[in-house]
Amino acid sequence: MPPHPALAHTPAPAANRPAWKAALANAVSDVTELTRLLALPATDSEALARACEGFPLRVPRGFVDRMRKGDPTDPLLRQVLPDIAELVQSADYSLDPLDEATATALPGLLHKYESRALITLTSSCAVHCRYCFRRHFEYSEHRIGTEQWQAIIRYIEQDRSINEIILSGGDPLNMPDSALAPRVRDLAKIEHVKRLRIHTRQPVVLPERIDANLIDWLGETPLDTVVVIHTNHANELDASVAKALGALRATGATLLNQSVLLAGVNDNAEALIALSERLFDCGVLPYYLHMPDAVQGTAHFDVSDTVAHSLIASMQARLPGYLVPKLAREVPGETSKRVLQG
Ligand SMILES: *Cc1c(COP(=O)(O)O)cnc(C)c1O
Ligand code: SF4
Repeated sequence: MPPHPALAHTPAPAANRPAWKAALANAVSDVTELTRLLALPATDSEALARACEGFPLRVPRGFVDRMRKGDPTDPLLRQVLPDIAELVQSADYSLDPLDEATATALPGLLHKYESRALITLTSSCAVHCRYCFRRHFEYSEHRIGTEQWQAIIRYIEQDRSINEIILSGGDPLNMPDSALAPRVRDLAKIEHVKRLRIHTRQPVVLPERIDANLIDWLGETPLDTVVVIHTNHANELDASVAKALGALRATGATLLNQSVLLAGVNDNAEALIALSERLFDCGVLPYYLHMPDAVQGTAHFDVSDTVAHSLIASMQARLPGYLVPKLAREVPGETSKRVLQG
């Protein structure tokens, strides 16, 4: 029987398409639309389109909802809105400031520090952060197929000094659970691997991602899990994010946050203190506050070392020690991230 005419154009039932996939597909990718949603004056969209080249605007609508209307200096907006300052070429800034090309043990596997290996599972993210050091990353060389995955597993099996695996990206939670769960099972079979760490911005920018399927496999893994989220400002952490973080915590995972110190976003003591307080409310402890990496196109986010040190000192004077993040910088060739203070 042909379908009822009224139903003929109804999309196929989204039985196997989780809600977060729809939210991801529906992210804002047009500068003009973003400025309209936020009641901001129109911008020179042609110049911005050039700034966007290769790294277009992308921001989920739920994150846009947390921005202040009519405020071009909103700290969340500044993280995602392309800026013509991105076109400025700065001396001493490079495309691969962390020299990751050298630390790549295998395609998709970075083994820089003892005991921990980092897998760049996917190149994609739900949000495009303008300051991101991976904006020039050669992701095409880091896409992991079955063969590469098997090579990674063999590498980890053969190095008994590795006891922690970090899933990173891009954002590893941009991958479907049907791909993640079996990979985590493979890792859990390796005897000397004790901990699974997930570096993700998804609980913050796309809290829909923390759904029952994800909680199922995360709750079931025998590995001790640490979820390191990425937030830079307290306004990012609304009730929907708090709920997602609560669900993650209920699996027994330890929750930590890393931030980047960014001019015009969080380079003042009040913002950093409010962020630490809000993180604690959500069951998350601050971990690192990163100095921005010297990556081409991001100089306008820079904060000087002097200012960074005084910000940490203000936090130390007003917060318990466990709410003060470690100020850190990544220096190629060192045996760990360099902790500057905190
Ligand atoms: C940052 C990083 C880690 C983790 O370092 P921690 O100090 O343990 O958080 C591991 N591997 C690589 C390649 C990294 O960049
Ligand atoms: S979520 Fe992380 S990896 Fe993705 S663009 Fe933002 S900072 Fe970069």
